[in-house]
Amino acid sequence: MTHYDVHGVSIPALGLGTWQLTGDDARRGVEHALSIGYRHIDTAQIYRNEAEVGAGLAASSVSRDDVFVTTKVWRDHVAPSRLAASVDESLRKLGTDTVDLLLLHWPVDEVELEAQLEALVAIRDAGKARAVGVSNYPAGLLRDALELVPDLATDQVEHHVLLGQDRLLDVVRPRMVLTAYSPLAQGEALSNETVREIAEARGVGPAQVALAWLLGQDRVAAIPKASSDAHRAANLAAADLVLTADERAALDALPKDHRTIDPDFAPDWDA
Ligand code: NAP
Repeated sequence: MTHYDVHGVSIPALGLGTWQLTGDDARRGVEHALSIGYRHIDTAQIYRNEAEVGAGLAASSVSRDDVFVTTKVWRDHVAPSRLAASVDESLRKLGTDTVDLLLLHWPVDEVELEAQLEALVAIRDAGKARAVGVSNYPAGLLRDALELVPDLATDQVEHHVLLGQDRLLDVVRPRMVLTAYSPLAQGEALSNETVREIAEARGVGPAQVALAWLLGQDRVAAIPKASSDAHRAANLAAADLVLTADERAALDALPKDHRTIDPDFAPDWDA
C-alpha cells in the first residue's frame, strides 16, 4: 500500500473511518481491520468512540507503533485554554501517550486562527501528537494556516467521485496530504451508473472503483467507514486496484458538486 511521508510521519493511503461505529462495533471493527492489514484508523472526539477504538487497538496483536491513529479536536475545545485538557482526555480514552495525527475538526471563527494553531503545535511539541493538521479547511483558509504553520500534515475534507477538490489539491501538493473523508459519498457513490459499469467490467465492487479513483491521485488518502467485515475487506482490496486511463477519464467526467456533509457551521467552501 502507498504511504505518504510527510513532516515526520508516514500516512498509509487507506484507513478505516469510524464515525457512527460505536460500542462493540467500534472495538471489534478496529481489531478486525488491523487483523486484515489496515494500519490507519481515523476517529474524533465527537464520534464518542475513542475509548472503543482504544480498546480495539489494545486487543489487536498488531503493535500500537505500527498503526497510524488520527483523532480530532471538536469545535468547542479549540480555544487555547481548553485544547490541552481535551487532547489529554482523548489520549486517555485511546489508551495511548501520543496520536500520530491530531486535527482541528472544523474551522472556528470565534477563536483567532493563530491562537488555535499555536495551541495545536504546543501539543505536538509536548510529544502528544507526532503530526498536526486541519479538517474542513477550504483552500484560502488552508493557505492562511500554512503561512502560520508550514508543516501541517493534512487537510481532511470530503472528496469522492461526486465531489472534486482541485482548488484544494493545488495548495496541498506536494507539501501535505489531502485525506478524503466520506470517500464513498456515504454510500451514494455506489449506485452511480458509471461506477457500477466499471465495477462490472472489472469484476470488482463499486466501492473498490470509487476508492481506486481516489487512491490513484497523488497525495490523496482515503478513510472509508465500514461496519461489516466484508465491506472492510473489500475496501482494503481497493488499494490494489489500478484503473485504466479510460476508466479514470470516465470517473473524472462525472459532475463533481455533490457534497454530503454541510452543517450550518461549515465554512464558505469557496473561500
Ligand atoms: P463513507 O465512508 O463514504 O461511506 C460509509 C457508508 O458506505 C456506510 O453506509 C457503509 O456501510 C458503506 N460501505 C462501506 N464500504 C462498503 C462496501 N465495500 N460496499 C458497500 N457499502 C459500503 O462515509 P463516512 O463514514 O461519512 O466517511 C468515512 C470516514 O470519514 C468517517 O467514518 C470518519 O472517520 C471520516 N469523516 C470525517 C469528517 C470530518 O469532518 N473530518 C466528516 C465525515 C466523515 P456499512 O457501515 O454497512 O459497511
